Amino acid sequence: MKGRIANFSAGPAVLPEDVLREVQSNLFNYKGRGLSVMEMSHRSKDYQTIIDDAMLRARQLMELGDDYEVLFLQGGASLQFLMMPLNLCPDNKEPNYINTGTWATKALKEAKKIGKKMHLAASSEDREFRYIPREFKLSANPAYLHITTNNTIRGTQYHQFPEIGDIPLLCDISSDIFSHRIDFNKFSLIYAGAQKNIGPAGVVMVAIRQDMLDRIPDGLPTMLDYRTHVDKGSMFNTPPSFAIYVMGLVFKWLQDNGGLDWIEERNRAKAGLIYDMIDSTDFYSGTADVADRSLMNVTFRLPTEELEAKFIAEATGCGMNGLKGHRSVGGCRASIYNSLPVKACEQLATFMREFKKQNG
Ligand SMILES: *Cc1c(COP(=O)(O)O)cnc(C)c1O
Repeated sequence: MKGRIANFSAGPAVLPEDVLREVQSNLFNYKGRGLSVMEMSHRSKDYQTIIDDAMLRARQLMELGDDYEVLFLQGGASLQFLMMPLNLCPDNKEPNYINTGTWATKALKEAKKIGKKMHLAASSEDREFRYIPREFKLSANPAYLHITTNNTIRGTQYHQFPEIGDIPLLCDISSDIFSHRIDFNKFSLIYAGAQKNIGPAGVVMVAIRQDMLDRIPDGLPTMLDYRTHVDKGSMFNTPPSFAIYVMGLVFKWLQDNGGLDWIEERNRAKAGLIYDMIDSTDFYSGTADVADRSLMNVTFRLPTEELEAKFIAEATGCGMNGLKGHRSVGGCRASIYNSLPVKACEQLATFMREFKKQNG
């Protein structure tokens, strides 16, 4: 068997090797119970233990107060784009959005689609989403402000969140959740598709402050009402049971290794290896403003598209995968999520140096 590649995929993305091995060893016969987690009733005691453990670990990692509910749902971050305005925007208020890229744009479109008076509080579209706007202007009667903490495609990230007092701050934190320490209690709602930083595809984690539940209008379709999932502990219907199990193991991996402080230090070192390489030469150019660069998705260009294609092809030949930029923007992108080993970033930095020498 060939070894594992250095996986720079933007998502579904790399998982911790320790987690994969644990899953593997329990795949056929979970802890001697005679069946796989995939084959287990979600109403069984064993499964309840698995989901309770994952939820507890999520709460611990977020250091959430008792006034929050944690949910494991389906439909990805993309369904949250709809559930958010549907549940949390009363008719007399406007949902506010800051547009920092593709996913942020998709989020605000959903609010418009269901007839909400979407207010654009700020946008970085004027410079191809290369930065995070510092200034914003809220509407007269804002229901909430929504931001995208990390812009997976453009390679920008919020390093400081908007201060908006009592107005609920909501965020899509899909691609940088648990990458570094933040104050989760600042947010009234956060959501993260698991497949970037915390698990396999198929589950989205939501944390919602309980006071937000009071504004949900009656009469929403059952599955689209947050209260349904709060009331039933995320098991109103069959949950994505296997994905939740693996996600719980990723949380445990994080905690056992030293939690968010550990991962933040590691992530800064990993990103530093590649950004230092980019900054040391004119051959590579970062596409995001330096102050707003992402710790998770490093986006850069080479002098020509031909060189970019060659770079990606040769890197793939050396066992480094997923370096092609998103099809909508081109260029190169190294997604260096939590689970990517440091040695993968070292390998990429070395490759970049050599490639420049030969082609620069
Ligand atoms: C990948 C991604 C999404 C889309 O997630 P799905 O789970 O596929 O719906 C949304 N927001 C951000 C920031 C992402 O990176």
